[in-house]
Amino acid sequence: MLEATCAIFGLLAGSYLGVLADRLPAGEATVAGRSHCDACGATLRWFELLPVISWLLQRGRCRRCHAGVPVTSTVIELVTAGLFAGLAARFGPRWELGGFLVLGGGLVLLSVIDLRTQTLPRRIIYVMTSLALPFLVVGALRRHQGVRLEWAAFGSVGALGFFMVLYFGWRGSMGDGDVRLAAMLGLFLGWIGPMHTPVGLFLGFLAGAIVGSIRISRGDGIKAKLAFGPYLALGATVAIFIGHPLIRLWLRR
Ligand SMILES: [Zn+2]
Repeated sequence: MLEATCAIFGLLAGSYLGVLADRLPAGEATVAGRSHCDACGATLRWFELLPVISWLLQRGRCRRCHAGVPVTSTVIELVTAGLFAGLAARFGPRWELGGFLVLGGGLVLLSVIDLRTQTLPRRIIYVMTSLALPFLVVGALRRHQGVRLEWAAFGSVGALGFFMVLYFGWRGSMGDGDVRLAAMLGLFLGWIGPMHTPVGLFLGFLAGAIVGSIRISRGDGIKAKLAFGPYLALGATVAIFIGHPLIRLWLRR
């Protein structure tokens, strides 16, 4: 039941995230202003704005000019819905679920923007962290596990330090947005466990390295810009869901 509720909430949130991903980098208003067709400029009616359903009913075309509607927004809605349902199953009806839903939505938004523009707007990272932090604090205290807040602080500072060394020691390896994102991921992963931050960041590097080497082998060249944010987000997500078994496996060796 909680999973289904979160999935529906994820569809709606994903629909708004798609709008934000279009408007934030362009500096457009994020709340005011009705959505419109990119091709003919017609303002969309409410029944054309239903997540997934509208796209299916209109077979991916604008009702007026019949131009193809990009499938991206529908993909964002489905990914967010799946992620929210997964987080509900992972954390259950606890305070921290609120914090991790904010994180999940924020990571979807940041990944889309990074893939399109190779930037990670700092405003999104700061807003997400401030929205999620109260949930993490109350969640830890309600469980009488204040130590989680220490882990979170260590995770965040550790990730920040490590990425600062890479950023300054190896110019051009990543952007300053990646450093901020890593510090934020360290906070959330640290809350789950002290080992989750290194595991999540390692998985992010691994995913980025695999995709990067595929692109180089295809002849894209080493200089080709690779958005790092989505891979960090992916690594953190994997660590959130299967970090515990991975760490156990690694320690047993
Ligand atoms: Zn149109």
